[in-house]
Amino acid sequence: MKFTRLRLSGFKSFVEPTDLLIEPGLTGVVGPNGCGKSNLLEALRWVMGESSYKSMRASGMDDVIFSGTTQRPARNMAEVVVTMSNDDGSAPPQYQDQETLEISRRIEREEGSAYRINGKDVRARDVQLLFADASTGSRSPALVRQGQIGEIINAKPQARRLILEEAAGITGLHTRRHEAELK
Ligand code: ATP
Ligand code: MG
Repeated sequence: MKFTRLRLSGFKSFVEPTDLLIEPGLTGVVGPNGCGKSNLLEALRWVMGESSYKSMRASGMDDVIFSGTTQRPARNMAEVVVTMSNDDGSAPPQYQDQETLEISRRIEREEGSAYRINGKDVRARDVQLLFADASTGSRSPALVRQGQIGEIINAKPQARRLILEEAAGITGLHTRRHEAELK
């Protein structure tokens, strides 16, 4: 599966609806300091089910909602939608008949998040597992945050093990085992 489109509305500094087509090959995001490059990457991680607001540089999940400026009032809702193509047939079995997958996450102040896959309400877990299986989860080593290289070098062995497990693609299995043990 490949990311083909990212849409944001009310997410961090992206207050106006923003629609980005992701072409095949390498994509570069350039711009002056503070223009929102890291926010874009965070939007992608967020829609994949990121549950740690700290790793989104926020002090609560509602902080991802546009907080207003002197010119514009704050918003009460943020939404991010990512589209993925299944042209290589690598989607999980239950989505094999779909050409594209559209995953959305929406948050309303004090109401928490709601997720959808192709218009159908799903749990956060469903979205996290979808991406964990595709080895592109919000904690995937494919997404390297600003300052993260230094963190990995200085990480404790346990934390480094998690990074290696993600890279080996077995995090989805761990999550499933944990769910099975809870049942
Ligand atoms: P750098 O080149 O310094 O890494 P960047 O392009 O990565 O910069 P970001 O860190 O993505 O920039 O964007 C920071 C901007 O986003 C700041 O101006 C900050 O005020 C704004 N911002 C972050 N959260 C919100 C929010 N909830 N509402 C409004 N603006 C926000
Ligand atoms: Mg940045």
